[in-house]
Order: sequence, then C-alpha cells, then structure tokens
Amino acid sequence: ALLITTKCINCDMCDPECPNEAITMGDEFYEINPDRCTECKGHYDKPTCQSVCPITNCIITDPEHIESDDELLEKFVTLQGLA
Ligand code: SF4
Ligand code: SF4
Repeated sequence: ALLITTKCINCDMCDPECPNEAITMGDEFYEINPDRCTECKGHYDKPTCQSVCPITNCIITDPEHIESDDELLEKFVTLQGLA
C-alpha cells in the first residue's frame, strides 16, 4: 500500500481518482486505507494518486505495508468481489 505523508496540502486531486476508494480526508491530511490500496494493480500501470499529486514525494510506499505484486493482485481480486 501507499502512504500519504505530511507534505499533503489537502488539494483533493487524488481522492476522486482512486479506483479503490482507498483515499479519504483524515484529521489533518488525506489518508490511504491500506486494506483498500492495491497500488493501482489491476487498474493502472502506475499508482494514479502519485501521478495526479502536485507535491513531489508526497505519496510514498508505506513502510509498514510492503506487499508483493501477487499480494496486491490478490487484494484487487478480493476487492472486486471475485474471490
Ligand atoms: Fe488508490 Fe491507487 Fe493510490 Fe492506492 S495507489 S491509494 S489504489 S490511487
Ligand atoms: Fe494530498 Fe497529494 Fe492527495 Fe493533494 S493529491 S490531497 S497533496 S496526497
């Protein structure tokens, strides 16, 4: 999963673009629900939130949720209700 850091300026560019509805406004900054973030596997070649975010290195790989491509694809399938 990816992680939104405190560099976030709450511009709301990423939230509507997430194919998994993983992004919501948190107490201070936008947040990613790691249970819903597939790093866009199954949807796009690259994480779309990183593509649209105007701030460099604002959205990073979550060091507490490192997942393999297989694990991310499995999460994608589960979220689609196919598993
Ligand atoms: Fe959503 Fe993709 Fe960003 Fe994860 S990487 S939060 S699935 S847009
Ligand atoms: Fe924050 Fe970047 Fe999302 Fe804007 S696009 S709300 S700066 S994480």
